Amino acid sequence: MSEWLQKGELVAGVDIGGTKVQATIFNHKFEPVGESRKKMQSKKGPVPAEARVLATIHEALEAAGSPAIKGIGAGSPGPLDPTTGVIIDTPNIAWKNFPLADVLSKEFGVPVAVDNDVNMGTYGEWCFGEVQNAKDVVGVFPGTGIGGGIIIGGKMLHGFSGAAGEIGHMTILPDGPYCGCGKRGCLESLASRIAVSKELIAIAVRGDAPYILENCGTDITKVRSSVIAKAIEAGEKMVENEVRRAAYFVGIAVANLINILSPEAVVLGGGMVEAMEALYLEEVKRAIKEHAMPFLRKGVKVAPARLGDNAVVMGAARLIAERLRK
Ligand SMILES: [Zn+2]
Repeated sequence: MSEWLQKGELVAGVDIGGTKVQATIFNHKFEPVGESRKKMQSKKGPVPAEARVLATIHEALEAAGSPAIKGIGAGSPGPLDPTTGVIIDTPNIAWKNFPLADVLSKEFGVPVAVDNDVNMGTYGEWCFGEVQNAKDVVGVFPGTGIGGGIIIGGKMLHGFSGAAGEIGHMTILPDGPYCGCGKRGCLESLASRIAVSKELIAIAVRGDAPYILENCGTDITKVRSSVIAKAIEAGEKMVENEVRRAAYFVGIAVANLINILSPEAVVLGGGMVEAMEALYLEEVKRAIKEHAMPFLRKGVKVAPARLGDNAVVMGAARLIAERLRK
């Protein structure tokens, strides 16, 4: 039983990304009873992103037998305003001042909660994953970029701007590589999968990573986490060192956050962590030991994310269920 929903009550969780959208209908125990996933239309395509999102939710409802739902929780890339549910600007989806919460509420006739996708993912892990009930939690999700979410006192931290938690843009090396945000040396520019893949391609071209060269050529987009993991299994030492280096940088950022926020738990997710969990966590823990203050790091749990692709929809569903209850 769940304390948030009564038996027979259902809610929807929606995960809106730059490349895909997922909608899942959950029962009162937060078990999935219907789901739909779609690729997002390119911004030049004829169907607006809004229509894709609505169609995906309708399909998930059909898959669940078209039940009535009590509410919708949605995670979207930001920046956004979590109180009004307005998406301020998402370059990947081409939404500008888009009233997502109002649009969903009007279409489905239910209350809607909107928050940043990484916040929702961190919330999902805090509600249902390995860091359940930890006092304060920091979530870091290295992928194409590096997303972060912070939960303080059981609530997502939004800050003055509403966009708190941009861990990927913490400056780690002031003269480091260029970041997508235009600055140099952000964590993301050093440790995202793109940053790692860029180095691996150079290593492969020099002849030091035959597995990468054979499977990816010089195409950076082909250097997926699963390929990197296989290259390490094949004994490619420089590939391993590059992943360790990236994970260590993530650990430095986490150590800084431990010194500032003193969380009880840190949850790490995303493709690279999933594909190379032991190695990745080892380096993050090493960096924490070397850069966080002993009293602050003592007893801090460092755990892998457990919900995978479902973290955002589960966190979003739980958030709207809590709001309905209150
Ligand atoms: Zn940046």
